Amino acid sequence: MNIQSLIRYNIRQLKPYSSARGEYSGYSKILLDANENPFDNGMNRYPDPLQIDLKNELAIINGVQPENIFLGNGSDEIIDLLIRVFCEPNEDEVMVLPPTFGMYEVAASLSNIKVKKINLTPEFQPDVDQILNEATPQTKILFLCSPNNPTGNCFQPRIIENLIKNHIGIVVVDEAYIDFSEYDSVLNWIRKYPNLVVIQTFSKAWGLAGIRLGMGFASKEIIEVLNKVKMPYNVNVLTQKMALEAVQNLEEKKTQVNEILIQKAILKKGLVRFEFVEKMYPSDANFFLLKVKNPQKLIHFLRGKGIIIRDRSKTILCENCVRISVGTNLENEQLLRALKLYNSLK
Ligand SMILES: *Cc1c(COP(=O)(O)O)cnc(C)c1O
Repeated sequence: MNIQSLIRYNIRQLKPYSSARGEYSGYSKILLDANENPFDNGMNRYPDPLQIDLKNELAIINGVQPENIFLGNGSDEIIDLLIRVFCEPNEDEVMVLPPTFGMYEVAASLSNIKVKKINLTPEFQPDVDQILNEATPQTKILFLCSPNNPTGNCFQPRIIENLIKNHIGIVVVDEAYIDFSEYDSVLNWIRKYPNLVVIQTFSKAWGLAGIRLGMGFASKEIIEVLNKVKMPYNVNVLTQKMALEAVQNLEEKKTQVNEILIQKAILKKGLVRFEFVEKMYPSDANFFLLKVKNPQKLIHFLRGKGIIIRDRSKTILCENCVRISVGTNLENEQLLRALKLYNSLK
């Protein structure tokens, strides 16, 4: 597949902004090139535009080269940049598979890119035949979210691979919740599929939603063009510092993920017992999608107890559904206690 031919003409022609520090690599003592305040407070310098230290660590953890990694201000930035790189406004389109994460459609619409929607099957899997039939050369990006938000399930690996192999554009696999799943990441497939972009985030398992850091993994060709179009200092010094500490302390993340999975199992046992729960969908993530008798009444009741859950009842294929995140032991106990009370009300 020729990736260059998928890139918008004006982006191919674009000469990127050249930042002061970006032109020089190597160790230097006297920095008089960027008009910064020279008094050192740990934050007086611009951040590394390519986040080399952090990428070196992430490359080791993920078994890729630093050149296969793009870091953005949340996954949101990466989704937005991918659309702006590949999709010509008023001409191209993206394909999404509802019910899914809303950001793909928002980012596309912002750039006046059409959004073609192919619903998931009743088992919440991609409808491969329909996707490939409806895709055209203008369908520059196909977004797959696995584990999917809000349904919680993973797509079957052979279905994902089939789509990567047969879609004639870019395939983005959003793995925001992959750390909670028993399925393997498809990250190492970037070596065989130049049209694959895998997105992960520090916002969920890593416990760092506040620092805004998303990761994109892809062929060097795709990473290079993302680097060309991004704002020069898109990941700030504080974020790079916090993330570096987190990746150098992998055990803590693993411990927390394990604890969340234990809590998830406890929560699951508690939730299935309630009469008002009509269906609990299988979850490969750190949340549950539940079909309940009267979602509005439930949400309102819990809000009165200071507990907020997500209303998904108006989402396609999710009629009467709510989405509940796994919290701490104490939070889950309080949730179950409140639900017990709710269940006993008539
Ligand atoms: C939470 C979430 C993200 C994370 O987005 P950030 O901008 O990195 O916080 C990405 N994709 C999906 C499907 C999510 O649910």
